[in-house]
Amino acid sequence: MDIERMSTEEVLEGFMAGFARRNPGEDDFYQAVHELATDVLPFMKANSRYRRMDLLERLTEPDRIITFRVNWVDDDHNVRTNRGYRVQHCNCIGPYKGGIRFHKDVTLDTLKFLAFEQTFKNSLTGLPMGGAKGGSDFNPKGKSDLEVMNFCQAFMTHLYRYIGPHTDIPAGDIGVGSREVSYLFGQFKRLTNELTPVLTGKDLAVGGSLIRPEATGYGAVYMAENMLDVKGERLDGKTAIVSGSGNVAIYAAEKLLQKGAKVLTLSDSSGYILDKQGITPEKLEWIKALKFERRGRIEEYADEFSGVEYHADKRPWEVSAELAFPCATQNEIDESDARDLVSNGCRLVAEGANMPTREAGVKVFHEAGVMFGPAKAANAGGVAVSGLEMSQNSMRLSWSREEVDSRLQTIMKDIHARMLQYGRDGDTINYQRGANIAGYVKVADAMIALGVI
Ligand code: GLU
Repeated sequence: MDIERMSTEEVLEGFMAGFARRNPGEDDFYQAVHELATDVLPFMKANSRYRRMDLLERLTEPDRIITFRVNWVDDDHNVRTNRGYRVQHCNCIGPYKGGIRFHKDVTLDTLKFLAFEQTFKNSLTGLPMGGAKGGSDFNPKGKSDLEVMNFCQAFMTHLYRYIGPHTDIPAGDIGVGSREVSYLFGQFKRLTNELTPVLTGKDLAVGGSLIRPEATGYGAVYMAENMLDVKGERLDGKTAIVSGSGNVAIYAAEKLLQKGAKVLTLSDSSGYILDKQGITPEKLEWIKALKFERRGRIEEYADEFSGVEYHADKRPWEVSAELAFPCATQNEIDESDARDLVSNGCRLVAEGANMPTREAGVKVFHEAGVMFGPAKAANAGGVAVSGLEMSQNSMRLSWSREEVDSRLQTIMKDIHARMLQYGRDGDTINYQRGANIAGYVKVADAMIALGVI
């Protein structure tokens, strides 16, 4: 493709047609690549150093995909089989790094999009980490602790030969918290006789970092704070809707409360709760016990506290609020949800989940002047603190909560500044364009330096 002579639209169309031929049916991966290419192509055309399609083309092909069968035994002594994956996307700026997702709907498409996103997200953190993602269609819902341990051990029995502290350092994601990471770590130790820090998000007792569980949610709120600051505004006194009720959502809600915002909603795949009085810190502690210890459903919140509405089979985007934090999963906000949010007064969206907004939804936000903090920047706090966990492990010491939290805040501020560098256009800021170009430039520079490998 002659990127110099052809128009950006023609290049994008040709590039995506080639991509679709090579990756048939991979809609999530397509969406992630299309979004990045849309922002990066005009920049590439305008800058001679980056005016070469091979860099972008190489980045749409993961370095390596490992697929394996996972056999494990359930509590009734049945042998069960799931599929395991690790997508090692790009290690040009550091060893492969990214979470492992256990969810019934996990496919290779999901993991390719997540690994692709991870490369640019990790680049944005400024830390030396490449991008990867792994996972399985194992459904952790309703599984006993023993079943989860059996599965984690079986999964790591396949994965361990492909990872290492200088090669690939997995972590958690949906369905994988510190319990699962630590079981995976235990099996790695059993297989290799080494307690090498080959995973992050570990339990504190085995080398985890303080603030790692909180980091993604806290980071999303720090990002929102930075974005509001540009407009001379603060979180204090604002209303917020949060989706999800895992680590990311709960700690986003916690930080919002600490900053004086009012949190109205949380959700899970069955529906959402609306607490018009606002979730208090005490209620949030109850939610933590519900989700992290009893592993219950968010619906129970409406039975426990008075004046709370539960809306089954719905998402919270119909609720009026100034701030929205989608912290559940990909594609949870479509075009019409985005319109609902805008007409209900939403002025800022910070994505705690990975790619929670469809491209048409993002367009609605931009057209309406909503401040839109894209996932690869807004949720980068999690992997950033993973990077800090790696640093602590290498130095064989542990930083205090304050130390980790203050480094996290600095990293989120720096990411915000990187987005402004490439996303500011007069008075308007397109954070998505800023994130995509800033993330891309660092990876492209590394690829150019390393040569054709
Ligand atoms: N799963 C998280 C993410 O999407 C964290 C990955 C990590 O800590 O390596 O960024």
